[in-house]
Amino acid sequence: MEYRDFPKGAGRISTVGIGGSKLHAVSEKEMVEMVDFALESGFNTIDLAVETADVFPKVRKALEGRRDKFMLGLHLGLTFQEDGQYKRTREIGEVAGGFERQLAALGTDYADIGYIHYVDDIDDYNNVFASGTYAFALKLRRQGRIGKLGFASHRPDISRKFLEDCEFDLFMFSINPAYDLDPVTHNPLEEDLSSLNALSVAQERAELYRLAEKLGVGITVMKSLGAGRLLDDRTSPFKRALTIPQCIQYCLDRPAVLSCMVGISSVDELKGLAAYYNAGNAARDYSVIADMNLEGMQGRCVYCNHCLPCPSNIDIARVNKFLDLAQVGDKLAHQHYLNLEHKAGECVECASCEENCPFHVAVRDKMKEAQILFGH
Ligand code: SF4
Ligand code: SF4
Repeated sequence: MEYRDFPKGAGRISTVGIGGSKLHAVSEKEMVEMVDFALESGFNTIDLAVETADVFPKVRKALEGRRDKFMLGLHLGLTFQEDGQYKRTREIGEVAGGFERQLAALGTDYADIGYIHYVDDIDDYNNVFASGTYAFALKLRRQGRIGKLGFASHRPDISRKFLEDCEFDLFMFSINPAYDLDPVTHNPLEEDLSSLNALSVAQERAELYRLAEKLGVGITVMKSLGAGRLLDDRTSPFKRALTIPQCIQYCLDRPAVLSCMVGISSVDELKGLAAYYNAGNAARDYSVIADMNLEGMQGRCVYCNHCLPCPSNIDIARVNKFLDLAQVGDKLAHQHYLNLEHKAGECVECASCEENCPFHVAVRDKMKEAQILFGH
């Protein structure tokens, strides 16, 4: 096992942790077995941004008598509807109540890490403050009911604003080689893009990682495997599968990254993650992505947003990203899609995006697919 120290305050985190996105599919017995294996192997953290409320009592059972061995990541602004399904909220009564109910269901009175849940647009960013969510989060940290305070986002511009305006210990951000790809250089390993006038996606993301490192704010990674899409030739934007060790190593090599939180639903999948630690340098080497050429990637979206502007103000990269994630079974992607201000159904088929896309993605078809899948 390998660990990294938190830049602020005490403690260290295993460089791979258990993500919550697939835990709804795990029985209580499997949860106990997973935690047994995790503790034997040295994993020390689990993130609980989960789809359904029934995950919490299973985690409670699995942690009985050993709560202190595991760092729990809970999310402020995540609550559950009466049927137990995930709901995101900024209503402060629901934020506070949701947090207390998560703790009660886990049989604990503190979260080792508390994230302000999933902030991906500027209105919601402002609402984090206007609703009192940020003040509440600071109070919880002062009281010791949250050990380390963070936020979760997929957006580099929003994350940067949080880093510049607030006092966080860490944040959860989606990173993998495809998300970091720049279609101008084709090369996600390339961070020196100073010849470009406007910030490219790759440059904006690389600058965020460097800023976090400079400020002493750690990053925990979500989507390090692209919800599994990067592991299969048929679904990877590279049209060539990467391995789990390659994806994890790529993320761990970004500045400020502490740990990859990988969604799993079985002990076997956890064993697959543990294999990272037995992989040698050659197996972890991801330099193959530097050789993946633009021609080989035609037709698959890498979420760069070079296709904008869209006359309907659709955030095409995020629609495509949520569509791709939902198609490989990520149910939270459906919820995230519903939070988008402009949905795929608003596409007027002007085709300007397809003229701008360096990967010749059939965006109009993707919008139709998204509209059918998500219903909007
Ligand atoms: S459709 Fe093309 S330009 Fe738009 S985000 Fe996807 S890859 Fe980038
Ligand atoms: S084709 Fe649709 S998604 Fe593309 S720019 Fe036009 S309206 Fe936007």
